[in-house]
Amino acid sequence: MTLHTGRHFLQIPGPTNVPDRVLRAMDMPTLDHRGPEFAELGHAVLAGCQRVFRTKQPVIIYPSSGTGAWEAAIVNTLSPGDKVLMAETGQFAVLWRGIAEKFKLDVEFLSTDWRHGADVEQIEAKLAADREHKIKAVCVVHNETSTSCVTHPFEVRKALNRINHPALLMVDTISGLASLEYEHDAWGIDVSIAGSQKGMMLPPGLGFNALSEKALAASKANTSMRSYWDWHDMIAINKQGTFPYTPATNLLFALKAAIAMLEEEGLDNVFARHMRHGAATRAAVKAWGLDTVCLDPHAYSPALTAVMVPDGHDADAFRKAVLENFDMSLGTGLGKLKGKAFRIGHMGHFNDLMLMGTLSGVEMGLDLAKIPHRSGGVLAAMEVLKGRDVVAMSKS
Ligand code: PLP
Repeated sequence: MTLHTGRHFLQIPGPTNVPDRVLRAMDMPTLDHRGPEFAELGHAVLAGCQRVFRTKQPVIIYPSSGTGAWEAAIVNTLSPGDKVLMAETGQFAVLWRGIAEKFKLDVEFLSTDWRHGADVEQIEAKLAADREHKIKAVCVVHNETSTSCVTHPFEVRKALNRINHPALLMVDTISGLASLEYEHDAWGIDVSIAGSQKGMMLPPGLGFNALSEKALAASKANTSMRSYWDWHDMIAINKQGTFPYTPATNLLFALKAAIAMLEEEGLDNVFARHMRHGAATRAAVKAWGLDTVCLDPHAYSPALTAVMVPDGHDADAFRKAVLENFDMSLGTGLGKLKGKAFRIGHMGHFNDLMLMGTLSGVEMGLDLAKIPHRSGGVLAAMEVLKGRDVVAMSKS
């Protein structure tokens, strides 16, 4: 076993680094989740989540991973046989479709090359052709963590509105929330799905659903079976600041602290910080002469960057070299990108020097793993962080 000194670099795109302040906030005795002290915490986190999702409607907090929150969105609003439109933006879209199919939904899965966001024009055309309104929901992944391609949910909402289609709009923003601009109410999202371990800077273990009046009405009318995930039991009891079953109390202490940190920085500043780190990372990739998985600048993710390795080279062998030599974890390629791409997470609790350390580890790892590349990526990223781009530099 190699002995490592200093801090491990956790640069996978979630779970992300948990700030010490959040870790300290969790370090509390467990408490009576039906007592008065808890209700104060319950009310605080429920209201705080509404501010993060930017909604006045209820937000549900589950003791679950993001996958649970995906399932909750489906079982509350849809019944076996219901038709849904999903976009195959990458591996997470594939997994979400898998859940929909297990619940016997009739899924139309619109393919992409995994290097762009969802094709909104194609979604609009499918909806326009659905004159009988058989499609009950449109499901898109906001920040596709397997490809680092973004689908802009408001564009999908505008497509639905243009043709006046009543389908629910469900958005997986599991790795988008608190990293990328997100407006649950203003963008007309019916169900937003998120998790704790990405931009929210918490350990894994909480799943979220933010709702709309329309989603609530759909769930009231929906008679299909569910219990643990039922929104209505949750909302009724949340009014007292408590939960229908034992909540993940210590994670809720952490959630309160994380929301305070996000609000002290200001959510818009958080989004701008991620945009800047995304731009610096892409400048590094370009200088190395490598390709990002995402080919569309409109879809570049500010939260992570997935990078293709040249044909004939193994992205996982490269990641292994980085882990063994520099004690840094990078994200593996998922699904059909396995071995072909690696992912640099730059979301959550993160700053300029953490990015520079990360990119230095990548550049040294590219050398060690003998991946053909040019040096200079770290320098190019530094120029972006200094506020000057490489083109401007080369002219000066
Ligand atoms: N959706 C997206 C976009 C994700 O990034 C992830 C996890 O990485 C999931 C869904 C699944 O969430 P979990 O692993 O917390 O169940």
